[in-house]
Amino acid sequence: MREMKKKCENYFRKSLQITAAFFILTIYFTQSVHAQFTDMKKILAQVTDNYEGLETIYKDLHMNPELSGMEKNTSEKIKTELIKYGYEVKDKIGGFGVVGILRNGPGKTIMFRTDMDALPIEEKTGLQYASKTKSKDKNGKEVSVMHACGHDMHMTNFLGTAQALANFKSEWSGTVIFVAQPAEENGTGAKAMLDAGLFAKYPVPDYILAVHLSAELESGKIGVIQGPAFAGADNMEITVYGQGGHGGFPHKTIDPVLLSAELVIALQTLISRELDVATPAVISVGAINGGFATNIIPDEVVLKVTMRTYSKDVREFLLKRIEQITAGLASAKGLPKEKFPKIDVYKSYIPPVYNDPELTADIEKHIINAIGKSSVIKVMPIMASEDFSIYGNNEVKIPSTLIWLGGVPESVIKKYQTIPNQMPGLHSPYFYPDISNTIKTGIRATTSAILGMLKVEPQN
Ligand SMILES: [Zn+2]
Ligand SMILES: [Zn+2]
Repeated sequence: MREMKKKCENYFRKSLQITAAFFILTIYFTQSVHAQFTDMKKILAQVTDNYEGLETIYKDLHMNPELSGMEKNTSEKIKTELIKYGYEVKDKIGGFGVVGILRNGPGKTIMFRTDMDALPIEEKTGLQYASKTKSKDKNGKEVSVMHACGHDMHMTNFLGTAQALANFKSEWSGTVIFVAQPAEENGTGAKAMLDAGLFAKYPVPDYILAVHLSAELESGKIGVIQGPAFAGADNMEITVYGQGGHGGFPHKTIDPVLLSAELVIALQTLISRELDVATPAVISVGAINGGFATNIIPDEVVLKVTMRTYSKDVREFLLKRIEQITAGLASAKGLPKEKFPKIDVYKSYIPPVYNDPELTADIEKHIINAIGKSSVIKVMPIMASEDFSIYGNNEVKIPSTLIWLGGVPESVIKKYQTIPNQMPGLHSPYFYPDISNTIKTGIRATTSAILGMLKVEPQN
């Protein structure tokens, strides 16, 4: 009996020891698994906790848009918020540009850029917080103003990310520079900030990131693309001369309106008949201005043209052919050489956006970690342009990447399922994003991307 009791006691002690060991091991594994995900849990909580504040910021920016180069109040708001989060802030750089720096020990420097300007468009979304703002443009003409390119969402994302990084200082080491840029829409803001000494007065970043709202991707999704992402853009004015006169006696005139119409078609044949179909290029005539009355043939017509290309060779070829074609058509009408069309190519060429493949792959990995693989979509290059390309394209090339932030509400995707080309795009008076899902996904994605890049590696 005693023997048996002893055996029982031994058995009981042993099983207690095994249970204790198992318990300790369980705690150890649970903790190490948790340690990998603490950042993400904190980010999710942070975005949810601050969501109302961010929505208020978004709606305020949306209702109070400012035109390119006139972002006075917008830049003040950005400055105030960044100071509140503890950033060292400088403003009025290259116009209304703002720079916020957070130094947090040794490590890499990452620049995150937002743009701030809106467009001369009358909003027609019918939303309760739609913009009713009117403003004088640079020519003194009163115009309606709308954030139709999502720069209000970019700023909200920028501020939410800046705040999260300030709150998680123990999770990363390095420096972050938050750059709010004026005048993106006319392609002058990035250059103005660089000319004002952005990289001379403040730390030169190792990597540069930006986000653009997408009017094609559903909210909750992030779009990534490696390599060429946005086309380069040249803008120009073509003044077509003629010999004006009575509309009833066209044979006594050289009609610049007719010549302009022929020129518009000739420009399109450059794309469809002189370039390989696989070569991406676009020429669009956005404005034709000339004449005043039904019965007067004017002396001149002015065309405003944008040209989009991805390579230096194609760009140079098209610029040369535009010159030859305009001169050739004018000559065929019998105009003398001094009356051949005058082509004024604007100096502000915007180079293509090239997303550094290695950086983009790295960022993609961190974003997948935050929002899941199925929410990260590979997207195609587009023919729009972005002056974000200017930051990384200097004497020192800096790896950069621009990611797409899906913004389209699910209901809109459903409505246009059979006619996706009709869905209101960027710069449309009907475009609006799904605020809640877009803000939350964006901040989770960009915060985790930057945290991932600047992560403090555990010491052994
Ligand atoms: Zn735009
Ligand atoms: Zn834009």
